[in-house]
Amino acid sequence: MSVLPFPEYKFRAVQDISADFLARKSIEFLMLDLDNTLAPYKQALPLSAVTDWAAAVRASGVKLCIVSNSRKEKRVRIFAVMLESPYVTRAGKPSPSKLLEVMRAGNVSPDKAALVGDQIYTDVLSARLAGITPILISPMDLRNPLLAIRYALEAPFRIRGRAE
Ligand SMILES: [Mg+2]
Repeated sequence: MSVLPFPEYKFRAVQDISADFLARKSIEFLMLDLDNTLAPYKQALPLSAVTDWAAAVRASGVKLCIVSNSRKEKRVRIFAVMLESPYVTRAGKPSPSKLLEVMRAGNVSPDKAALVGDQIYTDVLSARLAGITPILISPMDLRNPLLAIRYALEAPFRIRGRAE
């Protein structure tokens, strides 16, 4: 398994990751980055497309868990309630330690787990270090110029990974 931060799969948005796809890849536990994955940074609530997607994925038997580096506990908790999902804040990605902790708590083996996120050097790297499947999505909002630079620096890694 590569420890370079290459994504395994790429999608345009989180709601494009179908329950069918997850079943085909035997993914039963899906960790979710929040900012720019479930919503742009300043958006307080998930869109219905995202909550509908989460409901469909949960109905197929996949467990969700929001794993965010955010310190804004209240913001993360609102998303967790709306997605009916447990959550972790201050996850410290790219460290894999919180990912491994929630997997241990849920008795999930790494080959059945994936993490969805928009950033290479936090999300994809933490997934690789945890030995789970990294799924990269396109960031929802590129208007922040510092983030745009960061995404540009990620380009050599972003182009890898299978588009589904
Ligand atoms: Mg993010």
